[in-house]
Amino acid sequence: MPAFKTLDHLTDIAGKRVLVRVDLNVPVADGKVTDKTRIERVAPTILELSKKGAKVILLAHFGRPKGAPVADMSLSLITSSVEEVLGHTVHFASEAIGTPAADAVAAMKNGDILLLENTRFHKGEETNDAAFVTELAKNGDIYVNDAFSAAHRAHASTEGLARHLPAYAGRTMQAELEALEKGLGAPARPVVAIVGGAKVSSKIDLLMNLVKKVDALVIGGGMANTFLAARGTNVGKSLCEHDLAETAKQIMIEAATAGCAIVLPEDGVIAREFKANAENEVVDINAIPEDAMVLDVGPKSVEAIKGWISRAETLVWNGPLGAFEIAPFDKATVAAAQHAAECTKSGKLVSVAGGGDTVAALNHAGVADDFTYISTAGGAFLEWMEGKVLPGVAILHEHK
Ligand code: AMP
Repeated sequence: MPAFKTLDHLTDIAGKRVLVRVDLNVPVADGKVTDKTRIERVAPTILELSKKGAKVILLAHFGRPKGAPVADMSLSLITSSVEEVLGHTVHFASEAIGTPAADAVAAMKNGDILLLENTRFHKGEETNDAAFVTELAKNGDIYVNDAFSAAHRAHASTEGLARHLPAYAGRTMQAELEALEKGLGAPARPVVAIVGGAKVSSKIDLLMNLVKKVDALVIGGGMANTFLAARGTNVGKSLCEHDLAETAKQIMIEAATAGCAIVLPEDGVIAREFKANAENEVVDINAIPEDAMVLDVGPKSVEAIKGWISRAETLVWNGPLGAFEIAPFDKATVAAAQHAAECTKSGKLVSVAGGGDTVAALNHAGVADDFTYISTAGGAFLEWMEGKVLPGVAILHEHK
């Protein structure tokens, strides 16, 4: 049983006004939504509530308008895309509060869906202002949060409302929390984490938290160079944060204390230019030439990483193992991702991935549908992996 209420608890809601916080922060180019994934993710919650006869009132932010209306950040621009994905009429109110919202809500019939204008057109949204929360709450009897990706922020529509109204997790929020619980909350052991990407500096909290929770931490990507250099390996011209040597050592000490194995590359694919199809070769990690840089982990390392994945019951993954955007330096990421996908498909592995470039890297590897769960939640996913409390989630737990 989850430690929060879900839509399963909302049975008798015909005619009730349900304020649903969703993530509709979709990319738009030339007035067209270029990726509807986020709308697709929240569709099940919206349609379930509508079918149950609720008046479904959608709250969302769009871009960063900084507390005042900005024409090209109006949610009216994406209303037709939301209608298309839902296969259902979506009404629009020109303000999230005040007369426009109240009138639009008053006109709703059971099962109707209404999208309120960008909550961030009001300063009170990001400051979680009590008066703004009260205004929002006037239009609802019940609050549902389906925007995990915004749950790391204590804003009026992500946290404040849950203090005023009975609060429930939507289906996407529920799926995300259940997957994260399987990944790091109460995972089947052994748990292996793969962390890659460019720099240690952006992932210190993440690494510090993981070494306390997982049985092995595989470090790849540019950040592996910082760890190798801290250990005394010459990394040539590789991307490396030499000033973080002490931090890297501290992470290795914490890992040793917690009994977490740190897995660093044994070999690397080196090049002299950071560009696609640059001349490259595989070298032992202790033989990196002065004038070369490591752009991917080498084949021996890939075999070792695959071995760790095979022995794991649970895998959490953030960040590519190499510069995956430029061939052939995507090889290690693709091979490891495909192996994780195979282990997952055969029922031996729970695999949870997310954050920033990870989704793009796993899409590139063609395994997006084969992992147990891939979070598109960026910042919220990372903060959760860092062991931080997400205000939008914590408040739902208070309603259990
Ligand atoms: P992050 O956003 O921190 O997960 O970093 C992702 C970026 O790290 C991608 O753009 C990769 O190209 C880059 N990256 C991964 N490995 C390396 C490497 N060995 N050298 C330079 N950049 C890398």
